[in-house]
Amino acid sequence: MEFAEFSRICENIEGISGRLEMIETIAAVLPRLSDDELPVFVRFVMGRVFPDWSPLKLGIGPNLLYEAVGYVAGKKRDGVIAAVNETGDVGLAVERLLATKSQTSFFTEPLTLTGVHADCTRIAMTDGSRSQREKLRIVEGLLGNAGSLEGRYLSRLLLEELRIGVGEGNARDAVARAFDVDVALVAHAHQALNDLGEVAMLARQGEEALREVRIEPFRPVKMMLAQQGTIGEMVADHGAVAVEYKYDGTRFQFHKVGSECRMYSRKLEDVTVAVPDVIEVLDRAIPHDVIVDGEVIAVKDGRPRPFQFVLQRFRRKHEVEEAIGRVDLVPHVFDILYLDGETLIDLPFSERRRTLEDTLPVYVAPQWVSDDLSRLEQIYADALDAGHEGVMLKTLDAPYTPGVRGKNWIKIKPAVDTLDLVVIGAEWGEGRRARLFGSFLLACQQEGELLPVGKVATGLSDDQLAAIYDVLKDLVIAGKGKEVVIEPAVVFEVGYAEIQKSPNYASGYALRFPRFVRVREDKGVDEVETMDGMLARYERQLKSV
Ligand code: AMP
Repeated sequence: MEFAEFSRICENIEGISGRLEMIETIAAVLPRLSDDELPVFVRFVMGRVFPDWSPLKLGIGPNLLYEAVGYVAGKKRDGVIAAVNETGDVGLAVERLLATKSQTSFFTEPLTLTGVHADCTRIAMTDGSRSQREKLRIVEGLLGNAGSLEGRYLSRLLLEELRIGVGEGNARDAVARAFDVDVALVAHAHQALNDLGEVAMLARQGEEALREVRIEPFRPVKMMLAQQGTIGEMVADHGAVAVEYKYDGTRFQFHKVGSECRMYSRKLEDVTVAVPDVIEVLDRAIPHDVIVDGEVIAVKDGRPRPFQFVLQRFRRKHEVEEAIGRVDLVPHVFDILYLDGETLIDLPFSERRRTLEDTLPVYVAPQWVSDDLSRLEQIYADALDAGHEGVMLKTLDAPYTPGVRGKNWIKIKPAVDTLDLVVIGAEWGEGRRARLFGSFLLACQQEGELLPVGKVATGLSDDQLAAIYDVLKDLVIAGKGKEVVIEPAVVFEVGYAEIQKSPNYASGYALRFPRFVRVREDKGVDEVETMDGMLARYERQLKSV
């Protein structure tokens, strides 16, 4: 498939508002794609380039893209930025700029879907001191061969934000529809393989192939996530439940086969080199091939330390040895997904737990099972006394559902109401903060779209503002007056007093007294609060007055 055709399909989808029509449109395309094209198309149409489990990252920021566009369109950087500001969208700006270019040059080499993917792979593999130049050259090559409509989608794809409204749910349903297979099988295979592109290939083979899917070591699986809830509701709904401490550390997934071990963070980044001490103790403790799930905490003098200590270690690429020993990192393992060739995610939790205890004699997070409210409350109080964040309640019969924030894991922690929201804009500060951003526009998510819910400007120290500026300055997409638009990448945890209805923001809601708590470096944009979650909080608030 030529990239021009892909672009026309994207343009068509962008104009569709109904979910079913969107699914039909995608489903109609999939069967006629070759085996090389199918996985690429499925990822591209969701605005992704590589499988979610893959360590390959494009790493193209708006600045590099603007430079390449400027070169190809014969414009200065300022001209490119002006076009982005005017259109309010990188894709539309590139489309407009390339339209002028196409009158003076002709393309010798039409872009194809697989060709663009191959170039993206080359970009992700460039490494070392000359990598920026090398990336720029490849992006210039791609844009140089692109017509104007292709430019719109190519540029958005390179920033991994296609903005045509196709999320995982729609793409998954389209795969099931295209190959006439059960959507539940597609969803399950997707959870295990963590790449809808590959799942589409299996769907083409049929349901049997989807059923045979196994998880594989060194291919990280999305983490199962928790919802908020109460002890009372959980016991009323399920009777006896498992209760564990909620550790305030950093999530990990540990993979081991033979003597090879790897560790992945919550965002599925490979952090093996950063935490050799944790890997060594787990390697020694587990004489099997495994994938286990847990939380690492920092401990000093027997008490847990704030989670920032662990995060600093997880992010470290250099001088790892020096960092070891300043605090002890202790893993607490609470689940097992794979053992000696067997995929365990479909077993009930109680069985996985038994297997975990048989496999790992140490580092298993303590667990109790009870339906007695006062006993569960007591364990919660003990957890807080011991310096943990709270407790996790887990149903005993549920499978491990990767990437799902369901009702089978419930987190209980003291009522400080906080939300995880993504920064989509900022405003320059004033006075001594004039060279930094002083306030930040935040958004929640709804089916792949980001909806603004308010601004936060309090709770930040000068040091924090400087550190945040350092990260955000490379993510600025456009600017107007005192305001800038920021590429969504950084997640803030913010406290608030109340959620109110508000005509000022596209979400229809706003936060009262928002206050910055911390940057959630462990969370991705797709993990921020959903609009449904906001509405549920709003409803709960109404009930509690
Ligand atoms: P939150 O980050 O507030 O959504 O809470 C869920 C997180 O709590 C998980 O992603 C884990 O990182 C962490 N956690 C701590 N202890 C446990 C536990 N015993 N079971 C599951 N998750 C835990």
